[in-house]
Formats: sequence, C-alpha cells, structure tokens
Amino acid sequence: MRGVSLPEPGLLVVDVALRRRRLVCPHCGYHTRWRYDRRPVASTWRHLDFGATMVMLRAQLRRLDCRACGVVTEAVPFARYRSGFTRDFEDVAAFLATKTDKTTIARFRRVDWDTVGRICDRVVADELDPDRLDGLVHVGVDEVSWKKRHNYLSLVYDHDRKKVVWGKAGKDTATLDEFFTELGQRRAGQIEAVSMDMGPAFAASVRAHAPLATIAIDPFHAVKLVTDALDVVRREAWNELRRSGNPDAARQFKGARWALLKNPTNLTDEQAATLRKVKRRGGLVWRAYTLKEAFRAIFAGDLTIEQVAELLDRWISRASRSRLAPFVKAAKTIRRHRDGILAAIRLGVNNGRAEGLNSVVRLIIHRARGFHSAEAALALVMLSCGPITLRLPHERPP
Ligand SMILES: [Zn+2]
Repeated sequence: MRGVSLPEPGLLVVDVALRRRRLVCPHCGYHTRWRYDRRPVASTWRHLDFGATMVMLRAQLRRLDCRACGVVTEAVPFARYRSGFTRDFEDVAAFLATKTDKTTIARFRRVDWDTVGRICDRVVADELDPDRLDGLVHVGVDEVSWKKRHNYLSLVYDHDRKKVVWGKAGKDTATLDEFFTELGQRRAGQIEAVSMDMGPAFAASVRAHAPLATIAIDPFHAVKLVTDALDVVRREAWNELRRSGNPDAARQFKGARWALLKNPTNLTDEQAATLRKVKRRGGLVWRAYTLKEAFRAIFAGDLTIEQVAELLDRWISRASRSRLAPFVKAAKTIRRHRDGILAAIRLGVNNGRAEGLNSVVRLIIHRARGFHSAEAALALVMLSCGPITLRLPHERPP
C-alpha cells in the first residue's frame, strides 16, 4: 500500500503497488523481469465497501512482451484480467447472485444487474472445473427458455454427479454438436445413455456423435405431452360451451384449468371442489382427465420395468381408441418413443433423479431473465448448478 486519499465524500482511494519484481502475463502465466516500455498503465478496481464508503484500488502497472501473447499489461493477483473490480468484490457479487434476487444485489452492492452478469461470466471462466467433461456416462440434455420469445439455452446434465456440465445458447442439432466437438471422440464413446425430450434435434446429434449411447426419453416430457393433450380437450369443450350460449358453465370450465392440470395431491380446496364438479358433469373432459392421470401414475416410481411396459402399452391402445383427437395424436408420439421412455426408467436417468437440479435451474433461469446476454444467463446457471466451488474472500486458502 502506498497511500490513502479521500477525493470526495464517500469514496476512499487506496494506492497500491505490486511487490514482486517479475511481470506476469495475465493469459498464460509467462513471467519476465523485462518491461516492454517505461510507460505506466494507470488502473483502478472497485473493492468491497468499507462501511458506507466506496473503496477503489489504484495502481500503476507495467507492460511486458509475452512470447506467446504479445505486448500485454501485467496481471495482478487481486483482480481478474480486464475487470474493473477486485476478485473479492466479484466473488461476493457472484455468490449473492446464486442466492438472491437482482434488486437486492443491485441495491446492496451498488452495481447494475448487467455488471453482475459480466462478473458471473468472469468468475465462471476462472473457477469452473476444467475436468468437468471427463468421465461422463449418463447425461441429460434439456433446453430452457431464459428470456421470452425464443431465447433458449441448451444444457447438458451429468446424471451421476448431478451437475450442469455444459451449456450454450440455442436448442437445435448444431447446438448439441458443439458439445460433442468439445467432448471429443474418445469421451463421447464412453457415454452410455442420454436422456432428452421427444423432439428430433438432440437425438440427431447424439446419433451422429455417440452412436452407441442409448437415447432415453425423460418420462417428464411424456407426461407433459399428455397434459398438453388434456388442455386442448378442455379448451375445445370450453369454446363449445361459450358458442352454445352457456356462459355460466363456460366460466366454470375456465376456472377448471389448474384443477385439471395440476397433480391431484397439490390442489387447493377450491380446485378440488371444481374437479369434483367436472367429474359430475362427466363427458369428454373427464374422460381426458382420467387418461392423463392414468398416464402420470405409470411413472410414480413404484412399479417394476415390466409393469411399466405393460401399462404403457395398455395406455397407448386405450388412448388410441379414445376418439379424443389430441390423445390419439399423443398416443402415436408415445408409441414412437416407447423404447426411449422405458430406457429412461431402466437406466434411472429420468427427471425424477435430477429433479432437484432441474428445479434449481428453473429458479436461476428466472433470475437470469434480467440479463441482456445468453452468456451471462449461462454463467449464472453454471455458478449455481455447475462443478464449481465458489469461495467467499475469507474462505479462500491463504
Ligand atoms: Zn502470455
């Protein structure tokens, strides 16, 4: 430390100088005693506040001529390269971002949310386990929408370690192809199963790069397909009632949406009463509801694989004969993915296993909506669910 000044109320500037004589390249760690020139590079970093006072560190840095990277400003041990914040400040902000909402952090740390996003990005680049793609055997691929209107991230889960190990903006075959490119042929050959949704994009990539891996269809996605079919039946019935001039009954049906779509064990008293009314009324909607519930029950987790296979086949034929167009269509899709669904149960690579992780991802993604870049959203997901050890300044080994 060279000196302290208070250039304005509420701001403390601490002048520091590096003790070491050697100049270190911030990219590759190359070090030398030779300065490239005598011109100092004035640099400042925001540090953790001292009470209500903002603290800035200030230093005159030197430049070196790295053999690999060219002329660069030397690295400092207390801040990441090209950051205007100290490592301490960044680690605390990143920690908070995984724990609380953006308004709290912005007010508490006095930084805007996009700055927090860039901080997350730098911390992840620095701290993420470089071996995270080693030894993958059972993986899951999923797309999550991180912003309204077609802003998707594709995520790769390690089912065994229960971590998100890879991610990228986008949700098509080419997106997952990039994962396999990074993985390389040898490691791709060790993957035994990949769980995914029923869309063709991810499956095409897996077949091309890991042809020996079993494609498993997450039952969660199958249940969602059937629940969506129920919603179509409900909506059609509601429109029918409205058209036939029965607004009261129509209104009741509108309120029935969640009563029908939620798991019966999660209903409020009011929703349960609505469901009973739907049952009394009977008809198409009730038939569709029982089909949905029968399907969901198959994956409750208490059946043997043989029982699941039998019930699944029985459900497919029942739905195909239901004369409910959305269910006939759903049954067709389920039949096409029957083997994949059973594989997910046999191998235990279903959503149930990664459920905790999945709900954390969804929570984090919701928080990441305030960011402007997909990279920042991904960084927050990796900080919260990736193979990373986030340490606060006082927890860091000396
Ligand atoms: Zn270098």
